[in-house]
Amino acid sequence: MYRTHTCGELRIENLNQPVTLSGWVQRVRNLGGMTFIDLRDRYGITQLAFNMETAPQLCEQARKLGREYVVKVQGKVAERSSKNLKIATGEIEIVVSEIEVLTKSEIPPFTIEDETDGGEELRMKYRYLDLRRNVVREGLELRHRLANATRNYLDKQKFIEVETPVLIRSTPEGARDFVVPSRLHEGHFYALPQSPQVFKQLLMVGGFDKYYQIVKCFRDEDFRADRQPEFTQIDCEMSFIEREDILSIFEGLIKHLFENVKGVKFDSAFPRMSYKDAMNLYGSDKPDIRFGMPFVEIDEVAKNKGFKVFDDAEYIAGICAEGCSEYSRKDLDALTEWVKRPQIGAKGLVYVKCNTDGTFKSSVDKFFTPEQLSTWAEKMNAKQGDLLLIMSGNRKQTQNALGELRLEMGNKMGLRKTNHYAPLWVVDFPLLEWDEESKRFFAMHHPFTSPNKEDLQYLDTDPARVNANAYDLVINGSEIGGGSIRIHDKDIQQKMFDILGFTKEEAEYQFGFLMNAFRFGAPPHGGIAFGFDRLVTLFAGLSSIRDIIAFPKNNSGRDVMIDAPATIDSKQLKELNLSILKQV
Ligand code: ASP
Repeated sequence: MYRTHTCGELRIENLNQPVTLSGWVQRVRNLGGMTFIDLRDRYGITQLAFNMETAPQLCEQARKLGREYVVKVQGKVAERSSKNLKIATGEIEIVVSEIEVLTKSEIPPFTIEDETDGGEELRMKYRYLDLRRNVVREGLELRHRLANATRNYLDKQKFIEVETPVLIRSTPEGARDFVVPSRLHEGHFYALPQSPQVFKQLLMVGGFDKYYQIVKCFRDEDFRADRQPEFTQIDCEMSFIEREDILSIFEGLIKHLFENVKGVKFDSAFPRMSYKDAMNLYGSDKPDIRFGMPFVEIDEVAKNKGFKVFDDAEYIAGICAEGCSEYSRKDLDALTEWVKRPQIGAKGLVYVKCNTDGTFKSSVDKFFTPEQLSTWAEKMNAKQGDLLLIMSGNRKQTQNALGELRLEMGNKMGLRKTNHYAPLWVVDFPLLEWDEESKRFFAMHHPFTSPNKEDLQYLDTDPARVNANAYDLVINGSEIGGGSIRIHDKDIQQKMFDILGFTKEEAEYQFGFLMNAFRFGAPPHGGIAFGFDRLVTLFAGLSSIRDIIAFPKNNSGRDVMIDAPATIDSKQLKELNLSILKQV
């Protein structure tokens, strides 16, 4: 028998009990007369004690053990003379009577400690060692608890988990597909699902009115901290429902998770905001509403006063940073440089300090009188001691840039606390997005999203003004989930494909199976999918989804541990009828 207890289990109540423990040697401390070992497993750490006087041989043996050796010990539980109340087993130690090395270990390439000396790349290469660290283990445990709580909630609501295939053909979620060549069907390729979208809709046609799946999705996109080429969704679909049903069931899910996994209770309903308001007030379709600082348009009071930059601008708006009038020239220059970085892309930043003595100091003092500046302050609800930060230009770009600045100010002012959760439903997205480059519409969500009923009349005449019956769940500025009520009518779906520029043949080739299914009685349906990795990251208070994935890819999409992607040999290529075109 390898163990009677885990390394996190023994307490003072177990005093004098004979026990057997197995685990990894975290640390050996040789204090001369006594030697102590911290023995670690998934559940915690237990101190092993060796006495040079009473058991010199054992003690010698213990001193020779290296970090990360796997050992089995037998001994008796004893009370510690100096207790460590920071750990659950800190009142006891094991007086060891027998020790057996199960496997030796080489010196690990980085320390298996909370504060490790290993950089990210090294830890990823030896991820199995990294997994022994508390923070990684805790992340995966949290992930497991969230998955479990999700399943419990949805099961109670009569959802059933159905698996959908991974080798499929292209699904339109707006990203590039990963493709897999078929050996048996020369020149043909499977695509990996960007989501189970079409399958879950077909399950609705198949009569499974409440489906969910915790499922891997694959999108060949550029990397960011909150993206991985393969990621996990809680994917859901329901029949015979309206938007309200979906929002209420899934608001229930999120509340259930917060309450059961995090002990956070939301007493009221999540607020809702239209896409239009989100853009106008926060410059983002995923606003962080942990703090206010909404945009205020000041065209009315700032335009046509002789300041050319404003006079030529389509849009002038600003935010009011409370209590920041003391910002120094240096701080403001740094902010201006910050907004001018290519990632933000603003041309400049106008500031107005509303000083505590009632005066104003601004970067545009040459163009505006103090009286004029005071009308801006009034419009922006500023008090003495506040700082106004104003941008102007093309509406869309300026809103984006001002949105970024708002978040940066939120960070600087400490308004984005990780333990404060501010969920928000964003609703009424536009159905379509015009792409100037290709001169065509794209579906803002995906082509199966239903237009709002009252906008259906504009589908032919003015598609750009049609809103979608779509919704996103945003928490703390991160898009945690999104979905829509679907089109279930064959003709409307056909029209949607037309608007998106598919010829009849293309639509038939790509989505013929779905259109066919809609010929046989499709129930009204809709659904949502949550980014499970993002949700876990949020719950863990971490910033990168890599931290809560057991074996993640690095930021250029590589698994550096198994060294993937990798080349394949010529025999495999031949079997697949593929050849590599060398770039010249
Ligand atoms: N399939 C969608 C997505 O992955 C979610 C949905 O519409 O249910 O974003």
